[in-house]
This record gives sequence, structure tokens and C-alpha cells, in this order.
Amino acid sequence: MNPTQTMPDARGRFGKFGGRYVPETLIPVLDDVTRIYLEAKADPTFQAELTRLLTEFVGRPTQLTFAGSLSARFKRRIYLKREDLCHTGAHKINNALGQALLAKRIGKKRIIAETGAGQHGVATATACALLGLQCRVYMGVEDMRRQAPNVFRMKLLGTEVIGVESGTKTLKDAVNEALRDWVTNPTSTHYIIGSALGPHPYPMMVRDFQAVIGIEARRQILEREGRLPDALVACVGGGSNSIGLFYPFLADTSVRFIGVEAGGRGPNLGEHAARFDGGRFGVFQGMASYVLQDDDGQVVGTHSVSAGLDYASIGPEHAWLRDLGRAEYRRCSDAQALAGVHLLAETEGIIPALESAHAIGVLDEIAATVPENGILIVNISGRGDKDVAEIARTEGVTW
Ligand SMILES: *Cc1c(COP(=O)(O)O)cnc(C)c1O
Repeated sequence: MNPTQTMPDARGRFGKFGGRYVPETLIPVLDDVTRIYLEAKADPTFQAELTRLLTEFVGRPTQLTFAGSLSARFKRRIYLKREDLCHTGAHKINNALGQALLAKRIGKKRIIAETGAGQHGVATATACALLGLQCRVYMGVEDMRRQAPNVFRMKLLGTEVIGVESGTKTLKDAVNEALRDWVTNPTSTHYIIGSALGPHPYPMMVRDFQAVIGIEARRQILEREGRLPDALVACVGGGSNSIGLFYPFLADTSVRFIGVEAGGRGPNLGEHAARFDGGRFGVFQGMASYVLQDDDGQVVGTHSVSAGLDYASIGPEHAWLRDLGRAEYRRCSDAQALAGVHLLAETEGIIPALESAHAIGVLDEIAATVPENGILIVNISGRGDKDVAEIARTEGVTW
């Protein structure tokens, strides 16, 4: 099947994936968000304001950079979509700004968000500072320890950071705590989810805000090459930078979508975050999708060198596109991702985020599946400044 329509269906489902698995009190709130979001999407005034902010504040459109050395090495024409050049250093600001603007339209002045590595927290804190919204970010205390500079950045931006002590004290516990806050304060508060997951309308709405990546890339490659690319490549955590790149090419059936998941330390459950290579159908944190779980259906711990890919489930649209055969997914290990950082830094002068480096780490394997001189667009979802200390630590380098 070749999906070309705007998804999901009216119940927020991508095939059997997606939906709304949340407490009853949140259903009318999600209905309101959906209705007002669809109005905003069709309102030229809202779109013009968002475009103005993306231009003046974020620095869009981001460049499409021809990667000469990588192209020579792999004998394919390789372009990099430069989300690393966005203000705050990654694609997350595209969604955070869109949703903060939407919160103002809904009439909500209080924002909550969850964050793992802190990237979405910083993006949300930034959008709230710009738009004059009150902001609280939930973060596991284990993540706060690992990502102390991002905690301080959020505080500088005027955001309140709440440490979460429950469970493994990481991202999934922060999501639970944010959902609990929302259930308690549904009328005053908007919850800005950081990836294309959670209950409807989030997977659709976050995709739409990130689709600016693919809209620009499609126009840029047609200008440069006069034809569409053979394949798009992006790392997949929750799935927002990848779906943002893929979605505007959905009807272009000659263009392959290739997502790269975190292969971590190896194939055993608990050692990676490759939901399509070890996970199966389940319900987790508001949606149905592929979930990494044990035989009893208990969600298992995950591991990745990159905090942004370290999550037990994946956005429902990816699950759907994968089952339809429209998108392909492969895994990249921690070691391959680290090699990807070095390769891109040394050959192209770009230090990518560890997440984005997953798309580089298996580029040799991917290139081999594309005809010689074929065109690839690789999404560089973020810059590596946030990761230099972690890379040095992992490689045993002192600095
Ligand atoms: C958060 C993050 C990701 C993973 O999230 P997606 O929703 O899958 O895009 C990837 N890259 C960077 C730089 C991130 O900050």
C-alpha cells in the first residue's frame, strides 16, 4: 500500500497504532487541543506568525549542505540537512515554538514539558521565555546529574526544573510526572510533548511542526539537483526529526525513507533502543506502538550512548509506515555512532549530536543499497556541543 493522505484517521489512529490511552479527565483537554490546533493550522495569521519566528528567531530555512568528502568516499551524492544550525542547536525548537504559540491561542499561560537529555527542556524554556509563558520542566534526577549544563540553561531562561525521583529517575518517569501534573491542572496548562508520540493529536501535531524540515529539503534538492533524492536518512528516537523530513515526501514513492535506531551495546533486550528489532505491539505512555517489553509485557530498560534515542517506544506513524513497507529501519551501535561523530567532524567539519551521528555511523551500509551517484539526504538533527564531555568520557580521553 502507498499511503499518501494526511494521516491519522479521526480517532487519531495510524492503522492499529496511536490513539489515546490516557485518564478520562484528559480526553476533553485533548479534544480542545486537537480542534484549536486544526483551526490554527488553517489560519494564515497563525502560520505567518510561526514562519516569522522560525525565520527571525530560529534562523530558518536551514542549509542543505553538499558533503563533498563523504560523497567521494561513498560514491553517492550526499547532502546534509542542517538542523544543527537552528537556534538552541537542534530541531526540537521547531515544535516547541509551534506548540507554545498554540498554547497562547488556546489561552493557556502555564506550560509543562518533560525532558531526558535536556534538549527539549531547553527548547521549551526558550520558546516560553520568548513568548512570555510560565514554564515547568520535569526531569529525572539521574538525567539532571548527567546533563547538569542543560539544567542550568533552563534555569537561566526562567524555567522551573522539577527533579523526578521515581522509577529509574529518567525520561519515562519524567513523562509520567508531567502527565500527572496535566491531569491535576488541565484547564490552566498546556503540555508540550517533545517528540512525535503520546496521545492524539501529538504525533500528528509534532509531525506537522517538524515537517518544515522536509518541505525545505524537498525544495532545496529540486533547486540543486533538479530531481528528487533516492533516499532520506534520519535517526529515530521518538521519531520527530525523521518524520519531519520524511512526511513531505510521502507521495514521492521513488524516495526511500530510512530510519536509524539506537543499537546500543548489542542485540539483547535492555542493551539497545531498537524498537523495530526486538520490540512488539503494546501500549505505553498514551499510545499504541512498538514497545520494548519482556514476555510478561513489562516495559524494559533501554540503553543508548545518546540520551535522545534512549526510549522504549516509537511514534505511531513510524510503526504504521514500517508495517506498510513504506519506511525501512536499521540499527546503529554505540561504537558505530561514535565513529560517525569522528567521520563527520574530520571530513566535513561538522560535529554532530550523538543522536544524529547514528545516521552517519551506518551510512556506508545505506549507501551500498542506493545506485552509484544516487542522491541521499541525511538529517543532521542537532549539533554535538552538548555531547563533547560524554564523548571524551566514553573514549577515556581526559581534557
Ligand atoms: C531529541 C533528539 C533526537 C531524537 O528525537 P526525535 O524525536 O526522534 O527526533 C534526535 N536528535 C537530536 C539532536 C535530539 O535532540
